[in-house]
Amino acid sequence: MEIIDGKELAKAIRENLKEEIIELKKKNIFPKLAVIMVGDDKASAVYVRNKSKACNELGVEYEEFLLNETTTMDELLSLIDKLNNDKNVDGILLQSPIPRHLDINEAFRRIDPKKDVDGFNPVNVGKLSLNQDCFVSCTPYGIIKMLERYNIPVEGAHAVIIGRSNIVGKPLLQCLLNQNATVTICHSKTRNLEEVTKQADILIAAIGKPEFVTENMVKEGATVIDVGINRMEDGKIVGDVKFNEVSEKASYITPVPGGVGPMTVAMLMSNVVKAASSRE
Ligand code: NAD
Repeated sequence: MEIIDGKELAKAIRENLKEEIIELKKKNIFPKLAVIMVGDDKASAVYVRNKSKACNELGVEYEEFLLNETTTMDELLSLIDKLNNDKNVDGILLQSPIPRHLDINEAFRRIDPKKDVDGFNPVNVGKLSLNQDCFVSCTPYGIIKMLERYNIPVEGAHAVIIGRSNIVGKPLLQCLLNQNATVTICHSKTRNLEEVTKQADILIAAIGKPEFVTENMVKEGATVIDVGINRMEDGKIVGDVKFNEVSEKASYITPVPGGVGPMTVAMLMSNVVKAASSRE
C-alpha cells in the first residue's frame, strides 16, 4: 500500500507555478485572484485563509471582498460585474456557502467564464462535459493530477464515485470519463451501495460523512481517494474513509488531512496562472 502524498505533490505543483509566474511578471502580467465571501461561515474562513496564503507564497496578488450577511443580490452582482471588468483581475472566486436569500447559481452565471477559476460557470461545466479546454473545478482537477502523478491507470478502469455534488462528484465524473474510465456515480438513493463500491478499481468518496467507507466496501488492491473533510467535536479532521482498515486493503490511498485538500488549493493557483497567461 502506498499513501498518496497530496501535500508533497501540491508543493511540487506550486514550485512549477512559481517559475511561470516569474515569466508572466517579466511580461508585466501580475496574476491576481479576487475572492468574494458573503457572511461569516467559519469553515469558509479557513478555506479562504488557505487560498490567500497560497497566493502570498506564490506572489499572486490577492484581494478579498467580505460582504455582510444582508447583502442583496444586486450588490453581489454589481461587485462581480466590477471584477469582470477589471483588467488586473484574472480569477474571481465566490466562496460557498452564501446566505440563503441569495441565488448562488445566478452569481456563478455572472462570473466571466474566462475568470471562472473555480469552474462553476455553466459555460465551463458545459465545456468540460464536451471535453473542451476549460477551467476544471479544483478538487476534481487535483484528483486527476494525483492519479497521473502516481501512474494509476484510468483508461478502462472502473471508477466509482460516492457523491454527486456540483463541485466534486459531477465534474469528477466528466474528468474521469474524458480519460476513458468506466464511471459509476453513487449517491444517497443508491441501492446496495457496497455491491457497487466493491467493483471499483478507483473509489472516490465525496460524501461528507466521517469514516463512512469501511473495509468491506473496498476491493483488494483498489485506489481510494478520500475527499471528505469532517471536523469532529474534538477539533480533529477526519475523512469519509475509515483510513486504518481501508488502507490494509487498498493499493493506494489518500490521507486526510494531507491528501485531496492541498491539491485543491494548488489547482486553484494553477487555474489563476492559466487565466493570467491568456490575458488579452
Ligand atoms: P454534498 O453534501 O454537496 O454532497 C454529498 C453527496 O453525498 C451527495 O451527492 C449525497 O447524495 C451523497 N451521500 C450522502 N449520504 C450518502 C449515503 N448514505 N450513501 C451514498 N451517498 C451519500 O458534499 P460535497 O460538497 O461534494 O462535499 C463532500 C465532502 O467533501 C465534504 O466533507 C466536504 O467538506 C468535502 N470537500 C472537500 C474538498 C477538498 O478540497 N478536499 C472540496 C470540496 C468538498
